[in-house]
Amino acid sequence: MPTILERYYETHKKSAELYASSQEVVAGGAAQSRVMYPYPYYIAKGDGAVKWDVDGNELIDYIIGFGSLILGNNRPEVTEAVERQLRNGTHMGTTTPYEVQWAELITNLMPAGERVRFTASGTEATLLAIRLARGFTGKSKLVKFREHYDGWHDYVALEAGITAPYGVPEATKSTVAVLDPDPDALDDYLSKDKDVAAVIMEPTGAHWGQFPVQNPNFLERVREITRRHDVLMIMDEVIMGFRVSRGGAHGKYGIMPDLFSMAKIVAGGLPGGAVGGRADIFAPMGDPDPAKRFVHPGTFNANPVSAAAGIAALEIIANEPITERADALADKLKKGLREALIKQEVTGHVHGVSSIVHLALGVEGETNDQDISQVPVDQLAEATKGRKIEMLKLAMLNEGVDMFGGIGFMTSAAHTEEQVERTVAAFERSLVAIRDEGYI
Ligand code: PMP
Repeated sequence: MPTILERYYETHKKSAELYASSQEVVAGGAAQSRVMYPYPYYIAKGDGAVKWDVDGNELIDYIIGFGSLILGNNRPEVTEAVERQLRNGTHMGTTTPYEVQWAELITNLMPAGERVRFTASGTEATLLAIRLARGFTGKSKLVKFREHYDGWHDYVALEAGITAPYGVPEATKSTVAVLDPDPDALDDYLSKDKDVAAVIMEPTGAHWGQFPVQNPNFLERVREITRRHDVLMIMDEVIMGFRVSRGGAHGKYGIMPDLFSMAKIVAGGLPGGAVGGRADIFAPMGDPDPAKRFVHPGTFNANPVSAAAGIAALEIIANEPITERADALADKLKKGLREALIKQEVTGHVHGVSSIVHLALGVEGETNDQDISQVPVDQLAEATKGRKIEMLKLAMLNEGVDMFGGIGFMTSAAHTEEQVERTVAAFERSLVAIRDEGYI
């Protein structure tokens, strides 16, 4: 029997060659989140919830564009909209009717979206939201929560789990306070520091809920506390927007932030982002006095190709049971993964809201009725580390499943029940493989 690594080497030879060449030209070998042990696999093509790597391996895709592809790859309406626009040009050097239509769709779906402004990525969206908050309040500091990932720019790079604050000036760090995601800690801090413009958060907890918000009143309390201290609340909806509900996390939980960032699904699988929120906060963008106006340029903001994709995707999400279907598939997946753990007598814990599935190997515990883990977050964090995670990822790739770094899955409406069943079977075989090789 070949080992997990031997199987990976044997079936990923072209990827190995590409990675060797890549080391000479691409800094770090590949875009940061694509580097993995022992080397990444290079994908040639995707369709629906399936993709094929350069060695011809077929994979059921649970990364789905880091969450962008809730419709899967190549959804015909989206592809046609993009093709149509490509033939009409990729940049008009001014705005297009699409910008209005795209913003109308977003403001209709997102309850806190009185106004929208487009950016080219999620990182730019949180940057814009923070700048708007600082300008509007006249205050300089930002509060973020430990481990929450809100993009990679300087203000959110502190204690974000997957990024290090490499190269972030001390002066910038001094404008950001990192707190435990605890409403009392926030209340305390805001009572002492009166120079805070905004609090930013991943609404379901760090890393799309891998370290979940377990306090059922968290968002409500943060809303009340921020309002009382005259601080803006920024919800980072980059992953949750149009996924946990059509109206994002704030629509699902009924807590209205002052501003929220979007990316991924909002641009239909193409590059793009946006900020939504209160009209009065955005008002300086339209100030008639050029000296007071907040000018926010950006060559590819609201670019027509991303806009065409975003509009096509949001129209489908608005009118079809897309989030419901993705949720149901995730429920089936969670159930299957739990059964596989029991059957193989492997200690592990499966949790996650809506179409999001997190796996914590080596940990046991309960979830609540929304599948939010009740296991202490430090245990969940510990479970996401180490060689066992890397080997599970490889074992799953060998079995034709592409999961998030050995620790999670996102479903799309393009997945099928049969694919989920195959995934569960692959997971069971992968558990056996990593146990046989002594990783768990
Ligand atoms: N916020 C959250 C919650 C994210 O998950 C991400 C990306 N994974 C970002 C912001 C940054 O978005 P982008 O990668 O488009 O810059």
